[in-house]
Amino acid sequence: MAQKLKNNREKWRLYKKQTGILILADSLSGVYNETMAQKPTISFYGGAQEVTGSCYLLEAESKKILVDCGLFQGYKFADEKNKKPFPFKASEVDALVVTHAHIDHVGRIPKLYKEGFRGIIYATAPTRDLAALMLEDAHGIMEHDCRECSEEDFLYTLNDLEGALKLFHPLEYHQKERIGNVEFQFLNAGHILGSSFVKFSVEGKSIVFTGDVGAGSSVLLPSHDELRDVNILIIESAYGNRIHKHVGDKSLLLERAIEDITQKKGTLMIPVFSTERTQDILYEINEMLEHRRIPDVPVFLDSPLAIKTTEVFKRYPHLYSEDIQKKFQEHRHLFDFKHLKTTQTVEESKSINDVKPPKVILAGSGMMTGGRILHHAERYLSDPGSILLIVGWQSPGSIGRRLIDKATEVKIHGRIIPVAAEIRSIDGFSAHADEEELKDVIARTKDLLEHVFVVQGEQAAALNLVQVVKDHYGISADAPTFGEKFEI
Ligand SMILES: [Zn+2]
Repeated sequence: MAQKLKNNREKWRLYKKQTGILILADSLSGVYNETMAQKPTISFYGGAQEVTGSCYLLEAESKKILVDCGLFQGYKFADEKNKKPFPFKASEVDALVVTHAHIDHVGRIPKLYKEGFRGIIYATAPTRDLAALMLEDAHGIMEHDCRECSEEDFLYTLNDLEGALKLFHPLEYHQKERIGNVEFQFLNAGHILGSSFVKFSVEGKSIVFTGDVGAGSSVLLPSHDELRDVNILIIESAYGNRIHKHVGDKSLLLERAIEDITQKKGTLMIPVFSTERTQDILYEINEMLEHRRIPDVPVFLDSPLAIKTTEVFKRYPHLYSEDIQKKFQEHRHLFDFKHLKTTQTVEESKSINDVKPPKVILAGSGMMTGGRILHHAERYLSDPGSILLIVGWQSPGSIGRRLIDKATEVKIHGRIIPVAAEIRSIDGFSAHADEEELKDVIARTKDLLEHVFVVQGEQAAALNLVQVVKDHYGISADAPTFGEKFEI
């Protein structure tokens, strides 16, 4: 231990010399020297060399401000990690600032409440509405996954959820707010409805957490606000080492898949994330039908969550891009069309089987880690006439990722299902900026940038972006690991 400590001290000293930024603790030694922390600090308690579990603690001006409180997802030990107590006292956190409503950014908020947090939760109004739906849904999944569990065994109870939701305080984009002496505002991140960059002003320094950065190719939303005058940037890197293919031709590829399935008289399964992707695809299909680019084919939205999130989308048309707002003025049914059937109940979902192909099924979950898509996959993956179309990022270990990686069989609900259906994937519907777009965000603010922390990417993606920041812009950068704390 002593040796490790000595090594760490040496590492921190060197790091400080190179970057001017001081590491105060790391997860290996668990050492933290309180007396050194006079300047603002940021601790990384999730999204650290991994995509999910976003959770960052900013301590400044004697306030403790948490940015995001997300769920770890998609790998074997994620559950254990979610259940561990937070590495800080939840009751001492003054405020939580939420970038957007994806579960890997909001999924542990009720647990934070359970551990004693009673501060204000700042978010945009759509983020609050969507987060409420996501968290209710996640609780439902916990109940479904463990029927013999008591309420107390779950990550949080419905009471915790209810308590947490009461703490939300909605803010508009660009509205300035203060937590003690720390001023902050939300900027549009263009990722999903209500998604935000958070820009803090702390002791004359501007610190920006990007949350997730939207891809410029978003169908429904305007592109993200330009970041300026940033000193410390905490940037996501889900696609930190990848360039999106098919951005320009994503609707064409979707169109082709629908045409092909009509010809093959098969079933087109699209695993969808309930927010953004679903609405993007419904909008695209609606457009294709309107311009008679595809034949009439029954489309099922088989996800109670996606049905509800689509209703939230309809409540905030002023946040759509200009083009989409115009279309909305002309006809208000952007996400509804004649052959769309939404299926709420399990019986309705099962009845999709009785509809003769060709048919299109949009169902969650987006990474095939659960949800109704698995029932359809169980039935149609072994059918060579069917197509499974992946339209989003798939976490390692998920069935979606294994199918992209050409698995010849997958286990669903305990059964081995041979894969005979055609597996296709379209990158362009990603709600995440790719490497080029992330570089662009950094380049536009590089003049004042002092340091970049790269988060929310698998290790290879995060480290690649760190290298890019150093090599291209000569700015110090780091991909923190879990528990690391930095003085800024
Ligand atoms: Zn996100």
